Amino acid sequence: MTRPPKDGPKFAEEAYNDVIRWLEEHHEFLKGSIPLIASENVPSPAVRMALASDFGNRYAEGYPGERLYAGCKWIDMVETLGIELAKRVYNAEFADLRPISGVMANIGAYTVFTQPGDVMMALAVPHGGHISHGKTSWGGTAGVIRGLQVERYAFDEEDFNIDVDGTRKRIEEFIREDGKAPRLFMLGASVFLFPHPVKEIVELAKGYNAYVVYDAAHVAGLIAGKRFQDPIREGVDAMTMSTHKTLAGPQHGMILSKDEYAERFKSVMFPGLHSNHHLHAVAGVAIALAEALAFYEEYASKIVANSKSLAASLHERGLEPLYEHKGYTESHVVLVDVSKHMTGREAEFLLEEAGIITNRNLIPKDYRLKTDYKNPSGIRIGTQEVTRLGMEKSEMDVIAEFISKVLVKREDPSKVRREVAEFRRSYRKVRYAFSSVTDAYEFIRIV
Ligand SMILES: *Cc1c(COP(=O)(O)O)cnc(C)c1O
Repeated sequence: MTRPPKDGPKFAEEAYNDVIRWLEEHHEFLKGSIPLIASENVPSPAVRMALASDFGNRYAEGYPGERLYAGCKWIDMVETLGIELAKRVYNAEFADLRPISGVMANIGAYTVFTQPGDVMMALAVPHGGHISHGKTSWGGTAGVIRGLQVERYAFDEEDFNIDVDGTRKRIEEFIREDGKAPRLFMLGASVFLFPHPVKEIVELAKGYNAYVVYDAAHVAGLIAGKRFQDPIREGVDAMTMSTHKTLAGPQHGMILSKDEYAERFKSVMFPGLHSNHHLHAVAGVAIALAEALAFYEEYASKIVANSKSLAASLHERGLEPLYEHKGYTESHVVLVDVSKHMTGREAEFLLEEAGIITNRNLIPKDYRLKTDYKNPSGIRIGTQEVTRLGMEKSEMDVIAEFISKVLVKREDPSKVRREVAEFRRSYRKVRYAFSSVTDAYEFIRIV
C-alpha cells in the first residue's frame, strides 16, 4: 500500500480514513462468514449502543454508593442495577462488575485468596487450561503476575475431565517432597466440554483449608441459562468470568462471590486493580444480564443441542470430533482432531479462506506428543454465535458440509467461500435480545 510521506499534510487524514474504512470492511467480512470462534459472540444492538455511549468517557472510581467522582448519578443507577441482575442471574450474594476482563477478574481472585509463593492447582493448557491460570515457565498470569507456584491437576484424557483421585495422589506427593499444600484450586477452562467435578474438588480443598475459584469465562451464558452446572451452589468461594463469550455482552469481566469476601474483593478491584472500569461496558453487561434473565434458558439449550448435532454431522462426513462416547460435548465447544487430514494450523487457514472462522487448538494427545503449540493437531469450534443468529440443527448440517468440503474433499476454498456468503445472507438478526432493529454486523456511521 502506498501512502503519502509520514510528515506530509495528507498522511494524517489518509490514516484516519484507512482506519474507518477497515472497520467497515471488517463488518462486511463478518456478514459473509460463519463465525465459529468459541470465545467470541455477537452482542445485541442494545449492548453495542451502550458501548457507543458517553459512559465510556467518564470515571466512577469506587463501588456504587462509595464513589470518589461527581456526575455519577446515572452511572450509579446502571451499575447498581447491573449488580442486582448479576446476583439474580447467578444466585450469588456478592457481585462486582468492575473487572475489565476475565484475566483481571482472575488476578483479583488470586489477590484475594493467595499470597505470592502459594501453590495453586490448575489445568494444563492442552487439557483446556487458560494462560491466566498458567505457571511462570509458560509466561502464565498466575505465575508471572501473582508469583504462584502452579501445579497441574491429574487429567483423564478418556473423559476429558479432571481426575480427582489422581489429583489427590499428586498433591500428597508434592506435599511429601516440598511440604507446601495448595492454597487455591482453580477450575474452569478454555476448552470446556464437560462440567468439572466441582463438589469433589470443594471436598478435596477443605482438607487443605484451600479456596476454590471457578473460571466461567467460556460457560457464563450456559450457566445463566441453567445448562452445564451451577458452581456457586456446588460450593465454590468465587466465580470469575468474561462477559463476552457465551454471555454475549461486551468485552468485560465480572466476579461473583460470598458476602464474607465482599470487602476484600471491593478493595482489590479499586484501588488495587483499576482506576476506571469501562463504564460503557458495565452498562453493556447490565443489558446482557437482563437479556440472559429473559431469554437464555432457551438460548443455552439451543447452543448445546447445536454443538452435539454439529459434532455428529462432522463425524458422518469423515472428520474426527472428539469424545463421541460422551456425546461429544455438553457445552458450546466441539473439539476436532484434524491430524488425519492436515495440521490444525492448515485447517484454520483453509477454513478462513472459505469464510469459516475457527481456531487451531491443542488437543490432549498433543500433551503426550509434545506438539508445538503453534501447530497443534486440532481445531476448536464454538456454536454460540451462529446459534445467536438463529441457526438450528439443519444449519449445523450445512456448516458441517462446508467444513468437510474444505478439509476432507479439499475443494477450492474460494469456491466454498461464495457458497458460505450466500448461505449467511438469511441470518441477519441477533436473537435472544429485547430488540434487534439493527442487523447483527451492521456498521453504524456517526461521522
Ligand atoms: C477467555 C478466558 C479468560 C480471559 O478472558 P479475557 O476476558 O480475554 O481476559 C479467562 N479464563 C478462561 C478460562 C478463558 O477462556
